[in-house]
Amino acid sequence: MVIFKKISELQSYLNSYTSTGKTVGFIPTMGALHAGHLSLIKEAKASTDVVVCSIFVNPTQFNNKADYEKYPVSEGADIELLVDGGCDILFLPSVKEIYPDGLIQFASFDFGYLDTLLEGKYRPGHFKGVAQVVNRLLEIVSPDKLFMGQKDYQQCLIVKKLLQLTGKDNKIELVICPTLREQDGLAMSSRNRRLSESQRSLAAVIYQCLVSIEAKQNSMPFAVVQKECMDILNGKGFVTEYVAIANSEDLSLMSDYTDSRKTVALIATKIGDIRLIDNMLLSG
Ligand code: AMP
Repeated sequence: MVIFKKISELQSYLNSYTSTGKTVGFIPTMGALHAGHLSLIKEAKASTDVVVCSIFVNPTQFNNKADYEKYPVSEGADIELLVDGGCDILFLPSVKEIYPDGLIQFASFDFGYLDTLLEGKYRPGHFKGVAQVVNRLLEIVSPDKLFMGQKDYQQCLIVKKLLQLTGKDNKIELVICPTLREQDGLAMSSRNRRLSESQRSLAAVIYQCLVSIEAKQNSMPFAVVQKECMDILNGKGFVTEYVAIANSEDLSLMSDYTDSRKTVALIATKIGDIRLIDNMLLSG
């Protein structure tokens, strides 16, 4: 694996591949890598010629300074995992390299209600930062395929919209990959490593709530299931921000189950100062 910190060096190396017709797969990450990230690398390796992973903890997407400062960093272990996972190129830029003119957001995209509900409501400005960094990284790497995890469901829809708004959807295919889970169902996440042993043992309840939202869709109104989930989570010491169902294509919120297969259940909850999110597509 080759590591680049400078944009110009990354681009001239990539050019030697793309000029001979090779395709580029790209996986943007914030590091503290786990098997979920590696599943994206694997998916990219299966369908593109050169796989680029970036590690960049983007300051502009953190609405909470403490969350940014405490975001786990494990560069050495990440590099080992990427080498083992067969990644070809790691892009490891500094903040200055990505934002040479400072952190001001020059480009502003109109996502409509998509960046104001759910994550957007509880993390104001988050998706503006995500869009800013993803757009910047896409302009640097210029991939053929972009691999992202369903784990961050709303982020996938924001990036899909970003590709449309910038006309990049003609050139870049967004591939959404399934969520990898621990044995007890907890969605893998870099933030999980900040959980204490007792918090970790409670955290699988988030997945159990999603399973119950799916299981009860034909037997109970959603409002009842939603309250049950809130009570279970909060009874275990979580502070729950939302338990919601939405149209899986446009994320419009639903007050009750419909017959449609296009439903996603989403949860965001905090244990201590660690915020966890998860979601599940309902089978209908
Ligand atoms: P992050 O480093 O958290 O920004 O994540 C980088 C990419 O990995 C994003 O596209 C995430 O959705 C994806 N990802 C994170 N956790 C998982 C997981 N458990 N399974 C699959 N993909 C994941």
